[in-house]
Order: sequence, then structure tokens, then C-alpha cells
Amino acid sequence: MIDIKSYKNVLILGYGISGKSVFNFFKTMGFNVLVFDDSLADIPNKVSSVDWRDINLVVKSPAIPFMKHNCHKILIQAKENDIPILSSFDVFKIYNPNAKIIGITGTNGKSTTTALVYHILKNSGFSVQMGGNIGIPFCDLKKTEWYVLEMSSYELASSRYLSFELACLLNIEPDHMEFHGSFENYIEAKHMALDVAKSIFISYEDQYTLEKYSKQKNVTKISLKHETDADICINENAIIENSSNEIVFDLSGIPNLRGEHNRQNVEFAYAICRNLALSPQEISKNIQSFTSLPHRLNIVRKIGNTIFVNDSKATNPCSAGKALAAFVGYKIYWLVGGRSKKSDPIPYVKDFFSEIQKIYLFGESMDEFEAIFRNVKALVKCQTMASALNLAYKESLNEVGLSIVLLSPMCSSFDQFANFEQRGNEFVKIVESFK
Ligand code: ADP
Repeated sequence: MIDIKSYKNVLILGYGISGKSVFNFFKTMGFNVLVFDDSLADIPNKVSSVDWRDINLVVKSPAIPFMKHNCHKILIQAKENDIPILSSFDVFKIYNPNAKIIGITGTNGKSTTTALVYHILKNSGFSVQMGGNIGIPFCDLKKTEWYVLEMSSYELASSRYLSFELACLLNIEPDHMEFHGSFENYIEAKHMALDVAKSIFISYEDQYTLEKYSKQKNVTKISLKHETDADICINENAIIENSSNEIVFDLSGIPNLRGEHNRQNVEFAYAICRNLALSPQEISKNIQSFTSLPHRLNIVRKIGNTIFVNDSKATNPCSAGKALAAFVGYKIYWLVGGRSKKSDPIPYVKDFFSEIQKIYLFGESMDEFEAIFRNVKALVKCQTMASALNLAYKESLNEVGLSIVLLSPMCSSFDQFANFEQRGNEFVKIVESFK
């Protein structure tokens, strides 16, 4: 590891949640800290160009691109000047070399699984904190024995000091291609978590990972089906440990975690906590007391026969497909839009065409989705999420059977909102205002 303590001058690249936390961290430690950020915002210690003679280290925010095809100009200059570039995870690791870390990654389900593992460990008496891509940024984490850290593909690809006691990879679907440059690079970033962990947890249904890691001694394979080759699997409504063939958890008791995808999150959390020697009873008790995170399939309100569901965190086709799957039997009024991930949604949503009554498009991606869905489903272009919701509300009122107005937008929010939370909060506010 580089001897960071011998440095004096640090350049923070990107002043978002992570950048701010790294800034305060180094400031408190007595470093001279400069900030480079592409935005015009008023930012402390901001520079518009860098004199590299004055810089010993660059710490980049996770979303700053660094691959060959999109490398940020400051990173190009740093490399030309032989200045080390670290991620905020690296900084955390340098200052906490003995931290016992559980790294959670995957395309979907990271936050839920991270929060679930944390909830179980905390309530079972572990000295543990949760953070990373969820909650507390890496450099704000306090000293403790265990850390449950949500690891994004950006952070994984950007870090040079990755190492985990336990790492899990929940699933892989096409996502964040603009950042990584290709699906192969994205998979490679996710696999980095597994390559540096003492024990690894993978999905039996993840074709990109199973073949590569299934023969390793340190692997736990987790299946959503009754799969005897896996270590942990599901038979009907129960999680089974195949080593003993015992039913260890009854999945019908998790109304807070709706949908098959949440079964996967529960299985992984169960497997991780078993590896840490917790009993099935202890784990089960704590899974049952977990409340789901906001903006993930949250039922906001029921008006007549219609329920309103906020799934603003569904930012890619796979997660939106899981939301549709969780409401089979309902007539679905589906709100879709934002900044598209440019991957084909049809394979993920086609099984639910008979449930979908109409698609309400909004945001930057309206034309793209209009072209994709116009021949298969009724749709309307609404410009904003608010007008999409108001129209879906009016039209759903005429429905006789059970219906759902679902915000599961398949896109990131950055075209019209600061983040997915703001988009979800606006949805909730409007729904609460309905008479
Ligand atoms: P992440 O942090 O990976 O984005 P979240 O737990 O925040 O994951 O969930 C994001 C979205 O993905 C939500 O819409 C949620 O309903 C859906 N989701 C959660 N877990 C899974 C899973 N295991 N597989 C597919 N979709 C999931």
C-alpha cells in the first residue's frame, strides 16, 4: 500500500456525497486539500486547473469515468504526472487495514441485502456498521469490528486495495455500460469482489459467474429453485440447506419483502450470516423484523381497488421486470421513463404484457420507449412523472378489478430529478394529495 501519511497535498476529483466525505476526512487529518469538479457550483477549495507539482495524490469519486474510452481529463493528467489515484474505499482501507468487511455487490438488490445483513448482525450482537454506496460513505465510517459495505461496480473498478472477508455477487444484468464501456468490463468489475474475498457467495442462476467460480472451495452457491447442486436453495416457500436437507426459513413470513427477487436477497443474507456462525433461528427472527427500504416496491396508498406503488429505485429493465412479476394478477398502469440504460427491456417485461393496461412514458427516454412498445402495448407520452401519475390515476379509477399504478421506471432519474429518492418522494407526495 502506498504510504499516504507521507503526503501533504490531496486533490479530490468530484464533490458529491463521497467526495465531500473524503474532503472532510483529509481536512481533519491536516492535509492540504484541493477539489476539482466539473460543475459550476460553489465548492470549497475548488480549482479550475491543476498544478501537478503541488499534488501528491488524487482521490476520485466513484462515478468519475476512467476507462480508456471515457477517461476524465484530470485522471489523464494525473497518470501523465505519475500521481497515484485512489478511490474512497482505498482510503478507508489504508486507514483500517484490519477491517473485517462483508462486500455486497450485484446489479440489483445490493442495498436491500446490505441493509438486511446489517440488521441481522446488529441485532445478534455484532459490532458492525453499514455503509459504502448506501448510508454512510466509506470515509465517514467509524472504527468497529465488522463492516457491511455496498460495493457498486464503479467503486470496485476504481479501487486498488480491495479485500473482503466475505463477498457476495447477487446477480448480473446489463447496466452502466456507458461507464464500463462493455458488458464484459462490467462483469469483470463485479468479479473483482469475488477475486479478493476469503469466502464468496454466488447465484446458481448467474451464468456469467457460476462457471468461473463454482469449483472453488470457498464458494457458497445459492439457487432460487429446488436445485440440489446448490448449497442453499428454495423449495416452494422454504429455504433449504442442502448439506442437511433441512428447511431453515419459511419465506411466506416476509410480507415486508415482496417478490421473488427479495427471496434472493433473503437467501444471500441468510447464507452470509450462517457463515458467521449465527443459528437459523437467530437469523430467521431478525429477517422477520426487517422493514424494507424506501423506494423499493413500497405500497404508498390504496384508493378503491387501486394501489399505488413507489419503486423509484428500479433503474434498469431487470429490476422493473421483478416489480411487474410481483404484481401478477393486478391490472398494471405502469410509469416508465427517465434516463435510459439503453438495454433491451423486452426480455424482462414481455411475460407481463397481459397484466400491463397501459404504459405512461415520461422524461428523456420517451421516444426510445415509444418505439419499443408502440406495437405491443397501449401507451401515452406524458413529459413529466407528475403528469404520467395524474393520468394513470384518473384512468385506473375506471378499473373494476384490482389494479396498481406502478412507478418502476427502468431508468435513472438524472434527466429530471437530483436522484431516485427525489423522484420517489414526488410520487409519494402526489399520491398522498389524491382525494
Ligand atoms: P441496488 O442497491 O442494487 O440498486 P436495491 O435493493 O436498492 O438494489 O433495489 C433496487 C431495485 O431492484 C428495486 O426496484 C428492487 O425492487 C429491485 N431488486 C431488489 N433486489 C433485487 C434482486 N435480487 N434482483 C432483481 N431486482 C431486485
